[in-house]
Amino acid sequence: MSTNKLRILVPDKLADEGLEFLRQQADVELESRPGMKEDELAQVIGDFDGLIVRSGIKVPAKCLGNPGRLKAIARAGVGVDNIDVEAATSKGVLVMNSAEASTYSTAEHAFTLMMALCRQIGPAYQTMAAGGWDRNKFMGRQLHGKTLGVVGFGRIGRTFAERALAFGMNVVAYDPIINAPTMMDGKVRMFQDFKQMLPLADILTFHVPLTDETRGMLNAETFKLCRKGVLVINAARGGVVDEDALIPALEAGQCGGAALDVFNTEPPAADSPLRKHPKILCTPHLGASTHEAQKAVSIAAAEQLLEFLRGQGIHGAVNAAGLKVDLSPLQDRFVDLVQRMAQLLAPMISRGIASVTFEFSGAELLPAAATIERVGLVHLLKNFLDEPLNIVNVMHAAQQRGIRVQRVNIEDPFALAITGPQLVLEIVGPAHAVDGRTLPGDETRRIVGRVYQDLRPRIVEINHYHMDMIPAGAMVLIQNQDRPGMIGLVGTEFGQAQVNIADMAISRRFSEGGPATALMVLKVDNDPTPELCARLKAHPGMLKIAVVKLAAEKK
Ligand code: NAD
Repeated sequence: MSTNKLRILVPDKLADEGLEFLRQQADVELESRPGMKEDELAQVIGDFDGLIVRSGIKVPAKCLGNPGRLKAIARAGVGVDNIDVEAATSKGVLVMNSAEASTYSTAEHAFTLMMALCRQIGPAYQTMAAGGWDRNKFMGRQLHGKTLGVVGFGRIGRTFAERALAFGMNVVAYDPIINAPTMMDGKVRMFQDFKQMLPLADILTFHVPLTDETRGMLNAETFKLCRKGVLVINAARGGVVDEDALIPALEAGQCGGAALDVFNTEPPAADSPLRKHPKILCTPHLGASTHEAQKAVSIAAAEQLLEFLRGQGIHGAVNAAGLKVDLSPLQDRFVDLVQRMAQLLAPMISRGIASVTFEFSGAELLPAAATIERVGLVHLLKNFLDEPLNIVNVMHAAQQRGIRVQRVNIEDPFALAITGPQLVLEIVGPAHAVDGRTLPGDETRRIVGRVYQDLRPRIVEINHYHMDMIPAGAMVLIQNQDRPGMIGLVGTEFGQAQVNIADMAISRRFSEGGPATALMVLKVDNDPTPELCARLKAHPGMLKIAVVKLAAEKK
C-alpha cells in the first residue's frame, strides 16, 4: 500500500462523474467498493484518509472505533443520519455534506409538489389509470395571486420563493436569523415570529433543518392559527410537520391538503395513513433525486474531501461549525498568535481548567472566531488530555470534560483605534475543597495578544504583567519576588550554563498588601537544561519557572 497518496474509499454507489473526477487526481488512490458491508468497512476504514458515502451504507460508532489514518467522511448529499457524527467528532474525524449541490433539484421538487397538490394531479392520474374520466371532481387551485409562506429562508427556501414570485404569488417568509423586514428587492416580507406569519399564508412550504426548535413546528396548536384549508408542503425533514396533527387537521378541513417528500420514519410503515390519505400527495424522499443533483453532489463531495485532505480548506463541515479557512492576513496571524498564547499559558495552569474565555476586540476577528478558538483550545488542552486533539474534536472533548468555552466580543472603537485588534485568553481553574468547604475556581490565568499593522504577533500581558514581546522560539518565564539582584542572578546562572539570552522583557506587579512580584520573559538561543531550571528555582525569591518552546516567527 503506497502511503504518500491520499487514499479514498467509496463504499457506496456514487455517480460516475464523482468517481471519474477522483481517478483524474494524481495524488489520489481510489478504491470504489459499492455495496460494502458494515463489518468489512470497520476492518478497512483505518487504511484510508477519506471516505465518500451516500445513504446506502451506515458508518456507525463501531466503524470509527479505530479510525487509523481516517481524517474525513464526505456525504454526497445532505442528510448525515447514516453516519454516527458524535463518534466521528470524538475521534477527530471531520464529517461534511454537500448540501448546496442539490438546492435547485430539491426546490424544484417541492415546487412540483405544490403545483401537483393544487391541481390534484395524483388522484386525477389514479382515476385515469383505473379507466375513469372525471372532470368535475378535480377542480384545482390557481397559484397566481395566492400567498405563499416560506418557512426557512435559506438556500432552498429562497430558490423556491424566486420561482413562486415568477408565478405571480405573494411571498412571505419566516426565518429567525434574518433581521431585514423584506428580502428579494422588497418582494418578500419577512417575519421573525412564525405565529404572526401563519394567518397570511394560503400555502406553507417548509425548508428548515430538523432541530429542537423546528421539530413539530406545525402542530395541532399552530394549525389553528393558519387559514382554513391551508396547503402544506414538506420537502425538508420528516418531523417538522407533526404527522399526528396532520391527519386530524385534514379531516377537519383546517388543512386542505399536504404534499410530503419526507417522513418521521423513512420509509413510513406500509399501512401508514399518510400513504393513502386522499388529501396527501407523497413521494419517497426524491428531493435530490435528479441526474444533475447526483452528478453535482458526487463531484462536490469529492472536491470538498480533497480540499480538506490537501489542507486547502473546509467546506460543508457538519461537525466543525463555523470554521473558516479563507482567512484574511490579519485573521491568519491571530490564528498563529492564539497557538502561541495557549502554549505560554498552559504551563501556568496547575489545578486544571473549568472555563476558557476568548475575548475578541476588533470586528475583523469575529468571522474567524470559531477557528481561533478551536486552534487555541487544541494547544491549551493537549498537555492535559491523553486523547489526540484536533480542531474537529476539541470542542467535543472540552464539553465532555465540563470545560465551559465562552466567547466575549468587545466593541470599544476608542480602544481599538489605539491598540488595534486584540485577543484575550483567560482560563479559570476548577472549584476545589479547602478545610472541607468547596470554593469556586479562583485560579485565573490570562494572556493578551495583539497583531499590529506590521502583522507581527505580540504578547502585551501575562497574568496582569504588562510587556511587549514577540512570542517565538525557546522562551523562559520566570516569576520572582521583585527585589534587587534577581536579574543579575538569572544572567549569571544562564551565562554559567552557556545559555545565551537573546531578548528579555520584565514587568512588575504590586499585589494588595503582599510584596511586589515580577515576571521575566526571556528568549534564549539554546534550550535551558532541567539542571539550570532546578538551580534557579532553588534561589530564595524565585517563585515559578516555565520553559516553553514555540515555533519560529511566521514569515
Ligand atoms: P439552509 O441551511 O440553506 O437553510 C435553512 C434555513 O432554515 C436557514 O436560513 C435557517 O436560518 C433556517 N432556520 C433554522 N431554524 C429555523 C427555525 N426554527 N425557524 C425558521 N427557520 C429556521 O438549508 P437548505 O439547503 O435550504 O435545506 C433546507 C432543508 O431541506 C434541510 O432540512 C435539508 O435537510 C432539506 N433537504 C431535503 C432534501 C430532500 O431530498 N427532500 C434535499 C436537500 C435538502
